[in-house]
Amino acid sequence: MSGGWQRDGYEAVIGLEIHVQLDTASKMFCACPNRFGDEPNTNVCMVCLAHPGALPVANAEAVRQSARVGLALGCRIPAASEFSRKQYFYPDSPKAYQISQYDQPLCAEGSFHVPGEGAFTVRITRAHLEEDAAKMIHAGGDAGRIQGSAGSVVDFNRAGTPLLEIVTEPDLRSPEQARRFLTLLRATVVAIGASDCDMEKGSLRADANVSIRPIGSAGYGTKTELKNMNSVRFLARGIEAELERQLGLVLAGEEVRQETLHFDPATGGLTSLRSKEEAHDYRYFPEPDLLPVTQDPDDLAALAGQLPELPVARFARLTGAGLPEATALLLATEVELAAYYDELAGRVGDAKVAANWVMGELQAHLNAAGIAADASPVTPARLAGLVGLVVDGTINQTSAKEVFQALVEDPAADAAGVVEARGLAQVGDADELGAIVDGVLADHPEEVAAFKGGREQVIGFLVGQCMKASGGRADAKALQALLRERLSA
Ligand code: ADP
Ligand code: ZN
Ligand code: MG
Repeated sequence: MSGGWQRDGYEAVIGLEIHVQLDTASKMFCACPNRFGDEPNTNVCMVCLAHPGALPVANAEAVRQSARVGLALGCRIPAASEFSRKQYFYPDSPKAYQISQYDQPLCAEGSFHVPGEGAFTVRITRAHLEEDAAKMIHAGGDAGRIQGSAGSVVDFNRAGTPLLEIVTEPDLRSPEQARRFLTLLRATVVAIGASDCDMEKGSLRADANVSIRPIGSAGYGTKTELKNMNSVRFLARGIEAELERQLGLVLAGEEVRQETLHFDPATGGLTSLRSKEEAHDYRYFPEPDLLPVTQDPDDLAALAGQLPELPVARFARLTGAGLPEATALLLATEVELAAYYDELAGRVGDAKVAANWVMGELQAHLNAAGIAADASPVTPARLAGLVGLVVDGTINQTSAKEVFQALVEDPAADAAGVVEARGLAQVGDADELGAIVDGVLADHPEEVAAFKGGREQVIGFLVGQCMKASGGRADAKALQALLRERLSA
């Protein structure tokens, strides 16, 4: 499943550039609130509007959070790093340069392991801190894009907010690997608390660099850069479409042009944004208004020691507790589901039982309702009440499903109350069960004869009949035992 993408003698080569909006209180180089959704151009000051002479001051919390992410990605955190100016002109950048980092990034080479079936490791080239640009709104155009728009306005609230850019080596070999990698990376950053990494809101943006090459060759083909995939699913879809496109070109004897492509979520198609014939010349130079960022080895060791349990470690813990790999990976990386599972497992006190409920009944309900786990009316506390009744034998699996539905439909109900009100308590009592069994056996003499003649599988039918007669409430185990006892008497 997560092997490489290979077609007609070619293989995929993919590298990602990921921008993470850091969830700090203030912007990267000024005291303005780092907050979205406010009235346009209200969270601004002389620094982030680039008034002449205004001086930036680096946000220590952004530096700290970036170092924590870097540590989680296995990066080396150099003792000193430096901010640089990246020069370009565009209306979203009032200084006409972006403060970024160039040859001395905050986080240097690392590596990130994606466990599970077909496990793989991706080298991290670097992760550096920079400021985001302002937000441009293109009016009167097609889907808010600049082409064909009547005019553009700029909201500087986002200008100067902190971004951590994470760059990978071109180590990914399939769209599926890209999806798995980004899912785990996202879960890791969320676990750290550095960002909510909401791709729809743009607090995590992943651009994909894509090329193909003959299988086994050491060099790289010409790459294109894909933008605007606002979910992990779209990331994989965009890469898949681009690989097909490049393969078509190469097989037709044409060349892949180096260009930037825009992914359209509505159609799944790609359109050319601009061709990049040559590398941009940003004329980087060290930012003269900021001191280098220094890192104390003791502080870094302390930061590393204070990291929370990360998804990779969760995966190891959950597989260690006996969960299947696919389940463990899902429960380690799907952010909302992971939190839900943790709380349920804590309350239920049994990792496997909790996992079965989350992967079964809960997932089905979430999918049907189209909601995330944290939005479900069946909170971990309510579900734990239900699971407890199954574990202690008060109700059987069949009734448990009914109770679960009742919890979905009535947010005020609790499991014990539903069991009481609907009389769902399991029938395990030998006399009561015995009467049911005797009745069913009397009604089905042919099946009884067949069983006695050696067709043991008819017991399944008889169990079903007894279960039905009990209104679905029979203790399945006790019922089986009793049936066998009566039939072999
Ligand atoms: P650029 O000069 O376009 O900035 P870089 O070498 O800095 O390119 O790499 C940017 C990103 O593109 C990285 O994530 C890197 O892994 C990826 N990349 C580089 N070359 C290729 C290639 N031939 N195919 C796919 N991805 C590539
Ligand atoms: Zn400001
Ligand atoms: Mg580059």
